[in-house]
Amino acid sequence: MNHQEETGLPLDGNAAAGLLRELFALDVTVAQVTCNCCGAVAQVGETRVYGGVMGAIFRCPNCDSVAMRLVHTPVGTWLDMRGSRCLFTPSVER
Ligand SMILES: [Zn+2]
Repeated sequence: MNHQEETGLPLDGNAAAGLLRELFALDVTVAQVTCNCCGAVAQVGETRVYGGVMGAIFRCPNCDSVAMRLVHTPVGTWLDMRGSRCLFTPSVER
């Protein structure tokens, strides 16, 4: 029985470090993003990207709405996923 099962209390996000490392260590261009506007599913690599030095805007290849925004700033990197319903990464053979 683990801590959560014993206490019923949630753990902090650090407990999911291993899960998050698996997600973000992958080539995200092959991940499938679901557009929040039209529901289309496309690989991140298939989105239309408008970008510059500071980051990129990823637009849905079906309806052209903004699916994701990525911005590098001096204090860190922001990934805004409000335009996406979900991001799916297929399993990788290990
Ligand atoms: Zn769309």
